[in-house]
Order: sequence, then C-alpha cells, then structure tokens
Amino acid sequence: MELNIYHLYPDVLNLYGDRGNVLCMQRRLEWRGMQANIVNVPIGAKLDAKNCDLIFIGGGQDFEQEVLLDDLKGEKTAELKAAIEDGVPVLAICGGYQMLGQYYKTWDGQQCDFTGALDLYTVGSEQRMIGNYMFSCEEAGCNIVGFENHSGKTYLSEQVAPLGMMLSGNGNNGEDKTEGARYKNVFGTYSHGSLLPKNPVLCDFILQTALNHRYDGAEPLAPLDDTLELNAHRYMQERLSHNG
Ligand code: GLN
Repeated sequence: MELNIYHLYPDVLNLYGDRGNVLCMQRRLEWRGMQANIVNVPIGAKLDAKNCDLIFIGGGQDFEQEVLLDDLKGEKTAELKAAIEDGVPVLAICGGYQMLGQYYKTWDGQQCDFTGALDLYTVGSEQRMIGNYMFSCEEAGCNIVGFENHSGKTYLSEQVAPLGMMLSGNGNNGEDKTEGARYKNVFGTYSHGSLLPKNPVLCDFILQTALNHRYDGAEPLAPLDDTLELNAHRYMQERLSHNG
C-alpha cells in the first residue's frame, strides 16, 4: 500500500521545521512496509489533486502569506477546495491553516483574502501568542502537545469544529478555549514544528484517515514501538500540566 502526500509550498511555508511532519508520516508508513510518495507543489506548480491522498501545508509569517496570495488564488484554490470536499485529508499548520479560511486581516490592517475552503477567519492582534501549549483531542483520544507562535486570532463558524480544547496556552484566539479546526478530513492547527513526531497517536490517526479514504476496507495500522516518542510526549504533558 502507498500514499501520495502532496506538500504545498514547501519552498515558502516551512517555519520551525514543519516539513518534519511530512518525514514523520513517511517514516511511520515505511516502518509498516508501506510507501509514501512525496510530491512537492511549490509556487508556480500546478496542484493536480486527482491522485493525491493527503495534502500538507506548513506555516509562514504574514510576509510569506502575502507573497503566496497571487499563486494561491484561482486554479489552486479551486483544486484545493474540490479535494477537501472530496474528503482528501489535509494537515495545515498555523499560516497554512489560516490560509484555508476566508481571510486574514493583519494587525496593521492589510486584508488577505484566502481560499475560503473552511468557514473561519483570522484577525491579527498586537499580542503574539507564543510558547509550548497543550490541548485535548477527543478523536485522537489523548492530549496533544505542541508549540504556537502567531499574532492572528482565528474564529470558527458553526460549520467547523475545533480540533481540540485548550489545556495550556492560547490556541485559536486565546478567548474561547478552542484550538485548530476539523472539517471533513481537514486537520488545521497552530502547532508548529514537530507536531507529529511528538504526537504519534495523532500522526497515525491522520494516516489511517488517508488510508481509509484511498483503500476500501483498509486494515487498521499495526502498532509501532513508540517508547521514545511517548516518553517525550509524557514529559511535555507533565511540564505543561504544571503551567495551568
Ligand atoms: N502570520 C501568521 C500569524 O502571525 C502565521 C504565523 C505562523 O505561521 N507562525 O498569525
């Protein structure tokens, strides 16, 4: 079995090593004797999602998001929206997550119209929300530990569920306790960098979603020895529990 993982804007959206999430998905498939074909879709390349099993979008600052606007609108937005409506799983981080929404109004008043693939919007604030954080995630059946750094505050409409609820840190906006977004098979989150290596249960949940979407009656993923990963996860969970 194999998955075609499309990495959107690997050239521009790769804050804090967000690409590590792609490597993590690839390794966890390979360790189970499966294959991941990574397809980079940089600026200027066509997004042809016909054979795509999973789309990954990393994070970027306001500047990078503005640079991408021209390339994103039109054909790419249409293809991305069609794939999402078709149930293709998407993992989008921070700036990439914001780009799935309707718009982002930066703290200095710049309006960036995004894809509108998900009914949510983001408004910049002068306060930066930065640090290690933790949220509960019912679907994954565990708490997720991560790292956030954003000034945008994201607000979800009723059509979009949160990925989880904050236990420590800010999440979507620092106000309503929500973090990230779930819509169809889209997973949006503010968690940068080593999200999936640090949270192997979430990684497998997303991979299983992609396998189920591609293969009828896909077998449940075989367990791996995650001793190291789960120790790291437990350590951060413990640390963040004391932060309140
Ligand atoms: N530009 C966005 C913000 O600051 C996203 C930043 C990021 O991806 N870290 O809200």
